Amino acid sequence: MGLTVVYYYTGNFTVIQALSVKEIIASIITIGDELLIGQTIDTNSAFIAQQLNNIGIRVARRVAVGDEEFAIRKALDEESTLAALIILTGGLGPTADDITKPLLCNYFGGTLKRDQATLAHIEKLFNEVYKRPGATLPRNQKQADLPDNCIILPNPRGTAPGMLFQKKNRIFISLPGVPQEMKDIFTASVIPFLQKNCKTPFIIHKTLLTAGIGESMLAEKLVPFEESLDKSLKLAYLPQYGMVKLRITATGADQAIVSQQIETSFHQLKALVTEHVVTDKDEKLEVVVGRLLLRKQSTLSTAESCTGGLIASMLTAVPGSSNYFKGSVVAYANEAKENLLGVMSSTLATKGAVSEETVHEMARGVLKQLNTTYSIAVSGIMGPAGGTPGKPVGTVWIAVANCQKVKTHCLQLGFDRTRNTQQTAIVALNLLRQFILAESQF
Ligand code: AMP
Ligand code: MG
Repeated sequence: MGLTVVYYYTGNFTVIQALSVKEIIASIITIGDELLIGQTIDTNSAFIAQQLNNIGIRVARRVAVGDEEFAIRKALDEESTLAALIILTGGLGPTADDITKPLLCNYFGGTLKRDQATLAHIEKLFNEVYKRPGATLPRNQKQADLPDNCIILPNPRGTAPGMLFQKKNRIFISLPGVPQEMKDIFTASVIPFLQKNCKTPFIIHKTLLTAGIGESMLAEKLVPFEESLDKSLKLAYLPQYGMVKLRITATGADQAIVSQQIETSFHQLKALVTEHVVTDKDEKLEVVVGRLLLRKQSTLSTAESCTGGLIASMLTAVPGSSNYFKGSVVAYANEAKENLLGVMSSTLATKGAVSEETVHEMARGVLKQLNTTYSIAVSGIMGPAGGTPGKPVGTVWIAVANCQKVKTHCLQLGFDRTRNTQQTAIVALNLLRQFILAESQF
């Protein structure tokens, strides 16, 4: 099913004036009891905010309410005092707990009418995609009953379409809660609608990923740069697991000027932190490592104890990783380290599973077993228990190797188990990146 249909009317709709102001302020209302009891994390707001920001619309507030008439009405009243654009998600399902559609219809003074195009789409979904036997249930057909005073935003993957209303000089857009359906409608219908009807400024972001330098040290280094930065440009620091993302944002009415300004500043910024740059694109470390391996026509394997396969999982999340990643041995117990990776029992007995010698042998072992150009090995104590005075919780040994060399590194981490594991995976991948770069002239 394509995403080609954009939006269409069900009734009368006057010219949209709300969005012709200089700065559009938006508000997001997420609806659903599951959001308030902490069962579902509100990822919809983050996506919507990012998307709006990309097209120059500022989100001023985010509100979450339950599936409750009074709360939804109050949120609509309150947010429309603040914002010209109000985006809602949730409460559009076919079950009794989802009350958003009739409520909105009533709030905007419309009448529910069966929309034949939506009905045909629902029937098609049930028959051809979900392949449900028998006739479509009336409760699903009822999802085609839509307010006659809205623009329908088709939902290619689901049964509940989005709805766009106008009241006074405010625009309200209601979308399903299911994240993928919401995203599809947002991309196919909402963004084109806003771009067509809004006079928004151009906003361009450029991102640099750095490693091996802390946020504060970076900030010290960049004081003169920040002071000289034009007012239309903003520099943001986004620290994450041993790396720092630097993002420059340029805003302005003229696209050519905005592009020129950001290019110049980004170039200056890059020159100031050259030795720490991992990538000058908004991409993940594992993508950068994958590209390096591809360029070298090399392969990689991992031997993971404390990360339990996380490094392999990060690597294989990148499309095309089968071209350079051969596999991983998750060797958690000593027995697995000995039997699968050839770590010597004497090494484990005298040095311990978390030691430089063990990761050295793990890296060599997996390199041989999986016949790869490079390997990564990790072994550590992630906590909360398991530490000793000599090897406290957070002690991690990492090795990266090729057939000639093994490089080892020790970390002393002080976070919880999850973060220690994630940080280990990032540091290990970055060590490999540096190892490859050190032996090549890229
Ligand atoms: P609904 O449109 O209310 O039927 O939403 C269906 C499903 O979407 C819910 O069961 C949630 O799992 C998910 N969902 C709803 N709102 C959000 C949100 N703000 N962020 C992420 N997932 C959501
Ligand atoms: Mg719901």
